[in-house]
Amino acid sequence: MDHFDLRDGVMHAEDVALPAIAEAVGTPVYVYATATMERHARVFREALAALPQPPLVAYAVKANPNAAVLATLARAGLGADVVSGGELLRALNAGIAPDRIVFSGVGKTAEEMALALRHGIFQFNVESEPEVEMLSAVAHGMGTTAPIAFRINPDVDAGTHAKISTGKSENKFGVAYDRAHAAYALARGLPGLSIRGVAVHIGSQLTDLKPLEAAFGKIGTLIESLRRAGHPIRVADLGGGLGVPYDPAQPVPPSPAAYGEMVARITAGWDARLVFEPGRLIVANAGVLLTRVIRVKQGVAEPFVIVDAAMNDLMRPSLYDAWHDIRAVAPDGRRFTANVVGPVCESGDTFAMHRPMEHVAAGDLIAFMTAGAYGATMAGTYNSRPLTPEVIVSGNKWSIVRARQPLEALIAADNLPPWLVAEETA
Ligand SMILES: *Cc1c(COP(=O)(O)O)cnc(C)c1O
Repeated sequence: MDHFDLRDGVMHAEDVALPAIAEAVGTPVYVYATATMERHARVFREALAALPQPPLVAYAVKANPNAAVLATLARAGLGADVVSGGELLRALNAGIAPDRIVFSGVGKTAEEMALALRHGIFQFNVESEPEVEMLSAVAHGMGTTAPIAFRINPDVDAGTHAKISTGKSENKFGVAYDRAHAAYALARGLPGLSIRGVAVHIGSQLTDLKPLEAAFGKIGTLIESLRRAGHPIRVADLGGGLGVPYDPAQPVPPSPAAYGEMVARITAGWDARLVFEPGRLIVANAGVLLTRVIRVKQGVAEPFVIVDAAMNDLMRPSLYDAWHDIRAVAPDGRRFTANVVGPVCESGDTFAMHRPMEHVAAGDLIAFMTAGAYGATMAGTYNSRPLTPEVIVSGNKWSIVRARQPLEALIAADNLPPWLVAEETA
């Protein structure tokens, strides 16, 4: 559920009318609802309340790394799952304690490892043997010890879009299931490491619990055999990936409660502290991308609704063929079928084709729903379009949490080489 509703015919974010934000900040602009983020954090934690040991819920920062979002979630009691030095510093800046931070990713550099070691994070989720060798060298060189889990690739098909599937053997992520014992044996022989767990994350926007259950079942078996081999497995990181409803016409994804029930059942008897890394589930429904119709152009069959947001602001439709609900901010009661596109010079800059939707005309505001995850964080400046501003709402208050990048700043970021700088003529 979310906190974007029509009041007196106009869409509000909590108690703030979206047109007021569009007037003040301009469009396109991302708008986040604090109440939705807080609710999702609470619902997820409640779904895991029956576990024998209190879990660490480490929000996947890459879903939405805005400082205001992180600070909101830090206050709601979440830790962080980071995949770069930049995300680590963002999490720390937002007040997330280092011992609530997990570091994932296949390409951690020695510099990033050292940064994380200096701050004393909870755990490194190591994705390969060469990575664990590098981490050992870095930690040992610093005279410290890195707490590690290996991320295991369980070779399970998550049943999601290929580009967000991470748990098949051909994906780049994790150590192959049948090489796990060799990896742990290698780590045990290296200095500067403390083996403490296993980790798994099979993909994103999962709409079925079965692949997760299959992956967790394999991890449970592995934990037993690793312990028999003498490895002190005390932590099991079960990743993120739970899907959210984008398209009301599709079946509703499993609820956090159903997920929590499955986890409790599968992990009963593991005697391990569980870690979770939800990203999308926490923030997706908490955000909309607010955009204005520039003009409506005649098409062969349906009209093209050209909006001032583009693929550089919201990449998911062009990257993953993602479906976002598209709503008029002030619906006039009529409906039509249209193609909704951005101004960028790519045919891929298309948000929806042949979409039955609320009628809009030039100058009207549109909201792309469920845009709080993997939205602003993926934005770029293609076509020299400045980065999208972001606004957070709480009750009847709202605040700009990322200002619109001035065009002058975008252009001034480049430098000319000396040989192209105009010479002073004598
Ligand atoms: C992206 C990612 C997540 C979050 O996935 P969601 O589908 O947003 O919950 C969690 N863990 C890892 C390792 C990731 O790469």
